[in-house]
Amino acid sequence: EQAQPKKPDWIRVKAPGGAAYAETHKIMREHKLTTVCEEAGCPNVGECWSQGHATMMIMGEICTRGCTFCNVATGRPDTLDAFEPGRVAHAVEKLGLNHVVITSVDRDDLDDGGAEHFAQTIRAVRHRSPDTTIEILTPDFLKCAPEALETVVEARPDVFNHNLETVPGLYPTVRPGARYFHSLRLLQRVKELDPTMFTKSGIMVGLGEERQGVLQVMDDMRSADVDFMTIGQYLQPTSRHHRVDRFVTPDEFKSYKKAALGKGFLMVSATPLTRSSYHAGDDFARLRAA
Ligand code: SF4
Ligand code: SF4
Repeated sequence: EQAQPKKPDWIRVKAPGGAAYAETHKIMREHKLTTVCEEAGCPNVGECWSQGHATMMIMGEICTRGCTFCNVATGRPDTLDAFEPGRVAHAVEKLGLNHVVITSVDRDDLDDGGAEHFAQTIRAVRHRSPDTTIEILTPDFLKCAPEALETVVEARPDVFNHNLETVPGLYPTVRPGARYFHSLRLLQRVKELDPTMFTKSGIMVGLGEERQGVLQVMDDMRSADVDFMTIGQYLQPTSRHHRVDRFVTPDEFKSYKKAALGKGFLMVSATPLTRSSYHAGDDFARLRAA
């Protein structure tokens, strides 16, 4: 097996700490909530949490899929907790978030993929914090009837995010169990169901993709009317996960950003440490103010 490339200087991660970080941690524990920040070992956790920004993960800590880049455990998931939407809503209120990102594990075991639970969570947060903008980052609802997606869209999140994660050619090794064109179609259907809803998607780079492939993904997303795009460096959570093929340079990220803006995305975040939820609220607030 090939050796991993060495981590370059531009991947600098600030260690978590500080009072606001501790407070976020406390509120999450009190409400028995899981954050993707911790589960995914996100490099931005120190920065985000000290600013009171976090991404909550609903529907348990065990996923029915096993994407090779992801640190979430695979297996038989827990039964849904009917009180979870209420706890999420309480925590959002207590944290005083302007923008919340809510994501989940994949629930292929449920007939609706967890769509109703997502919708209930959106409604509960909306009820308690009407001024908080809500971004959801959903699974692909691959095995569900079309109504599942409708249920989520009808709950009216402000931003509907579903990540394509990588170029189609790498799906078998990076995202087995998912289908590139299904995910693309899902994003397009959200826009068809509600043209006023912002849609968003993202990919990781450094997994072995070519530049041309990334540009093609941008074109595919735009043809599905996706509004926002994120591109970040893939980092290997543990040695059992997909290897890092290479570290994409900050200049290449700049060039990707320029290309994406040229293709018509309303908002693009492309830096080595960009994650799908990184600074999502700030960007969205700027866009609404514009
Ligand atoms: Fe959490 Fe997203 Fe920030 Fe990472 S970028 S720490 S997942 S909110
Ligand atoms: Fe991780 Fe999501 Fe893949 Fe599950 S579906 S393994 S949570 S990336």
